Order: sequence, then structure tokens, then C-alpha cells
Amino acid sequence: MESLNPWDAALEYFDEAAALMGLDTAIHQILRQPKRSLIVSVPVRLDSGDVNVYTGYRVHHDVTRGPAKGGIRYHPDTTLDDVKALAMAMTWKCAVVNVPYGGAKGGIRVDPHGMSRHEVERMTRRYASEILPFIGPNRDIPAPDLNTDGQIMAWIMDTYSVNVGHSVPGVVTGKPVSIGGSEGRPEATGRGVMYQILSAFKTLGMGVDDVSVAVQGFGKVGSSVAKLLHDQGCRIIAVSDLSGGIHNERGLDPEAVVRHVRECGSVGGFPGADPIANADLLALDVDVLVPAAVEGVINESNVDRVRARLIAEGANGPTTPAADRALNDRKVLIVPDVMANAGGVVVSYFEWVQDLQAFFWSEEEVNRRLRQIMERAFLEVYGMTREKGWTMRQAATVLGVSRVAEAWRVRGLYP
Ligand code: NAD
Repeated sequence: MESLNPWDAALEYFDEAAALMGLDTAIHQILRQPKRSLIVSVPVRLDSGDVNVYTGYRVHHDVTRGPAKGGIRYHPDTTLDDVKALAMAMTWKCAVVNVPYGGAKGGIRVDPHGMSRHEVERMTRRYASEILPFIGPNRDIPAPDLNTDGQIMAWIMDTYSVNVGHSVPGVVTGKPVSIGGSEGRPEATGRGVMYQILSAFKTLGMGVDDVSVAVQGFGKVGSSVAKLLHDQGCRIIAVSDLSGGIHNERGLDPEAVVRHVRECGSVGGFPGADPIANADLLALDVDVLVPAAVEGVINESNVDRVRARLIAEGANGPTTPAADRALNDRKVLIVPDVMANAGGVVVSYFEWVQDLQAFFWSEEEVNRRLRQIMERAFLEVYGMTREKGWTMRQAATVLGVSRVAEAWRVRGLYP
């Protein structure tokens, strides 16, 4: 049985890239470990008066190219290994799209669904206080991830600002526009995934019209991808969330599904669609499959059922190394997470630049620059696959690692 531990998978992908590129042994050894990992206890007073104590993490994988950057997730499966893997992926991702950041990630091991908004606020502020020495606009800049949003970023920004005595919008990204957020940030990750899919279509000589798409995970990333691809003329035939999925071969209207989720809490029960289990959604005969939920969903046990021609990884780490090998053998084109979902960190970078300059851009400007960066990254990586015979994941990882290694080489090892 293959390991489903995300840290094992992250190391396997990194080691493979290191071997392909002939990475310097010392730099390889250094980058196999995160630079620093913080584990904090997060006691939270519940509305009932009781206290629950949760475990929180913040990991900086590498900061050689700039401040650490990465999301914060609230999820019951969050472990230190999970956060280490995600932080490493952030290091490569920032380098693939060439934004001047290192990689970080954070999270609390908690299921926030049963908690009141007040409880989530108290938990967020306590967690922010515990990681305060780790974060800052020149040090480490958190952003939203699974089960976190702009409001949670606003509470972190406020907690940090109150503690240092003045407003520091640049300490987080993905915050509301009213406090220094960027136009276009909420859908930036999904928009970046769309640009990558459109670039892939171009190279495959495929048109956009009537292309069938299934999206697993209908949250911030998945719902944006579905809406944007639908606007391009694609047929979104299935979407899902934690509670299950909905399916209609003639196509769903993602805007209507978003409204349904807002009213009912999940995609289930959407009128005019049949229910479908998450496992069956992954096995649909579609042109494009977008896993946009959690890690390890395409693995050794179900990869034989996957029939999509193109997989664009909206989620981080959705494909295990064994499944990746099987799909590559079958010539399924995988646009890997470290490139496919980098639109979020690109627009986070734009948000941070706008905050530091206190000068804000229009949404058109944000989207235009995002498109430029995502298309350039795709062409660079695709060019490497052609030249070297590598997969897109191998090429993207080599590109990211090589930029980080070059920064290490010129900075040197202290002392
Ligand atoms: P989110 O919390 O907004 O949405 C997650 C969605 O996935 C929800 O609909 C949830 O119900 C569903 N889900 C959770 N577990 C599931 C499961 N086991 N099976 C099916 N559906 C499940 O989170 P998000 O921000 O959209 O993040 C989704 C993925 O994208 C994560 O892997 C995250 O790390 C990655 N990502 C997010 C961003 C971002 O900017 N938010 C950027 C890059 C990558």
C-alpha cells in the first residue's frame, strides 16, 4: 500500500526533480527540511463557557528568495507533516511563477463547521497571537486556504495591527478590499487555473466549446474555476463538496449552484441534477477533471477508474506519486498544483505590493498581469517538457527548485 502522507509525497516529488536536474547535494539536503516549524496550543472559550484547546502550526519551508508566503487552513486532518508538505510546495510554486517569496503554510487542526462565528473569531485571534513572532509584512504573509476566508484574514490583520500599535495591511493577503485587499483576489486561484487550462487546450489543439468538465470541491477555488470555465463555453457536468456531488450531462449553471450553496449549505439537492458520490465524480468520462478539495484524492486505489484526458490540480497535492505515475503512463496531461493553482499567490503578491505602496489597481489591471504570468509559466514549463521529455510536474518542480537553488548558491551558506 502506498503512503498517503503528504510529506512523503512532497519529498518524493522533490527528490525526483533533484535527480533530474542534478541538484547540488548540500542544497538538496538543506531543502529537504523546513527552515522552521512552530507548533502552538490554541485555547478557545466556546459560547457555552467551556474551553477547547486546539493545535495550530506555522511552517516556513524556505525564505531565501523573500518573505515566507502561504495559506492558513482550518481542517480536522491538519498535521505537522501536512503543513510541512504544503509549505514546501509554496516554495516551489512562488519560484515557478517567479514572485519574490519563500514558502510557508499554517493551520489549526479543527473542524470549524460546528463553531459559531464568535468562536471562530476568538480562535483566529488567539492563533494569530501565538504565531505573531513568526509573521509580518517582511517576514511571513498568511492568506486564506481550506475553510478560511477574507474575514478571517481581517481578524489576523487586526490582531497583528493592534499588537504592534498601527495598521499593517501587508501582513496578510486575501483580505477584504475595504482594508487593503486586492480587486480580483477572491477568484484569483480559480482564474489562474482557468488560464492554465486554456493554455493546455491551445497546446493540445483543443477548442473550448462544449468541453466537459468535472470539479471536485466547490469552495473558493472550485466554484471560481467552474464559473470561469462555464463563461468560456465549457460544459460543467459535475461539481461536489464534502457532502457529495451533483451531475448533469447537459451542464450545470455554476452561478445558480453558488446561490443554492449559499441558501442550503451544500451543492446537494440542486434542482435538475442527479446526485453523484465524490468517488464517482473522479471517474467521470470528461475532458477536464479539476480536483479542488483536499490532498491524496487520486491515489493508487482509484487511479484506474480516472478517465479524464486533462487534470488541472486546483487543490494542493490531490494526486499521489503512484497515481501520478499511472496517469503519466496513460498519457493523461496533468497540470500540476505548483503551477496550476499559483494564481492565488500571484494576486496575493499584487495585493502585498499594492499595500506596501498604498496604491491600488483596477480589477482589469490585476487580471491582465495575472494572465501574463500564468501563460508565461505554462509556456516555460511546457517548453521544458518538450525539450527534456519530462512531465509537466517534473518540469515545473525542476523550474521552481532551480530558482531556489540559484538563490541559495549566490547567497551562500552562513556562516
Ligand atoms: P474551501 O474551504 O473554500 O473549499 C473547499 C471545498 O472542498 C468545499 O466545497 C468542501 O466542502 C470541499 N471538500 C472538502 N473536503 C472534501 C472531500 N474530501 N471531498 C470532496 N470535497 C471536499 O477551500 P479552497 O480555498 O477552495 O481550497 C481548496 C484547495 O485548493 C485546497 O487544497 C487548497 O490548499 C488549494 N488552494 C487554495 C488556494 C486559495 O487561494 N484559496 C490557493 C491555492 C491552492
